[in-house]
Amino acid sequence: MNRLSKEDLSQMNQNYFQSLDKEKLVEVAGNLHSLAVEQLEKLEQNSSNSSLPPSSDQFKSKEKVPSLELEPTGSETSASESKREDKQVSQESEKPKNKGFGKKLPGKQAGAKGIWRTSPLVASQTVAHHPLSCASCNSRLEIDPQAKPYMGYYVLELEKLDSGIDIKCTLHHYYQATCSCSHHTLSKPLTGYISVVEGRSKDLCLQEYGLVGPMLATFIASLAMRYRMSRPKIKELLDDWIGVSLSVGTIDRCIREVGIACSPVVEELIVELQSAEIIHLDETPWYEKGKYRWLWVAITSTIAVFHIGSRRKQELLRLISEAFVGWLVTDGYGAYSNYPKRQHCLAHLIRKAIALTTSVDKEVADLGQWLLEELRELIHSLATGGGDKDESDSNPARQNPCLPIGYGNRA
Ligand SMILES: [Zn+2]
Repeated sequence: MNRLSKEDLSQMNQNYFQSLDKEKLVEVAGNLHSLAVEQLEKLEQNSSNSSLPPSSDQFKSKEKVPSLELEPTGSETSASESKREDKQVSQESEKPKNKGFGKKLPGKQAGAKGIWRTSPLVASQTVAHHPLSCASCNSRLEIDPQAKPYMGYYVLELEKLDSGIDIKCTLHHYYQATCSCSHHTLSKPLTGYISVVEGRSKDLCLQEYGLVGPMLATFIASLAMRYRMSRPKIKELLDDWIGVSLSVGTIDRCIREVGIACSPVVEELIVELQSAEIIHLDETPWYEKGKYRWLWVAITSTIAVFHIGSRRKQELLRLISEAFVGWLVTDGYGAYSNYPKRQHCLAHLIRKAIALTTSVDKEVADLGQWLLEELRELIHSLATGGGDKDESDSNPARQNPCLPIGYGNRA
């Protein structure tokens, strides 16, 4: 079944409906009904009944949900705080943008001369996209060999060869066709998930229409994330070594698009975390565009999941839900304290023992020294496979002693 677009709907009117025979009218009504159902379901979606993040709820309701991400370290969120935030946001939006010597927005400035390609792209192949059925009445459409495309765009795509990599340029042509019911149907590049972030000037939409193909975009994202290259460095590398000229803005967009495309993988990893026997959890301060946030990490022997948010307990539940029944290895942060199967991280205990050894009270310093030696001995036995063999293997330190042992060896 076709998905009706704005152009399709604009062609439909009283005269068009009256011109259709009963069979086609039923088909058109079916398409309109599907669209109405789809839109209604979309309207009713929120974080409690779909995979939408809770942060998207505030865009759907007038009442602002207290933001977790903008919140300071404290655990309470008062109404006055969110009001203050609202006020701040509205004040910011009222501010005149880009006046005088104020901070410039990234990207091309308004009125600045644009930069175009010095040499046009040359496609090695052309792909034709014809509409296969009428968007209105679903009748099959014939391909007209004389038809001219109404739009087209180039796509640069990376191909992995036995002897290395190659960049291929493809021209995509899109056609329209007229049905016997008089409806014009356009073939269009497909669009996917739309990422909405508060404060961003334009929503980011995953779509076929774009200069960079999925494999090349993944390669660019890999250079940025895995190989830690800056956007200008990636631009330089692509230009010098692969002969692909892309703007820093396009490179940045590719990295963000790949990030969005990876979100289902993160959800899968979070599900996998639930069945792990041992999870190491930690959190550390994280500044993002000057905002104070927390970076959480949950690590098992095969998975590492990072999450940026506030320091509240709810963030912990996003990583390990109540379904997790294994061992949690953490530091002494209070958010973990209610979890029944928790082991205090040995590296943190050693640090505390070291602090005790420096005490002015000799008795306390001696206790610290004793504790330190005992802990190091314990770690040494675990690392060398010694210790009590009868002990159950459910002990997290035995199964996953990498962190404390690394520390112990250094010490
Ligand atoms: Zn038709």
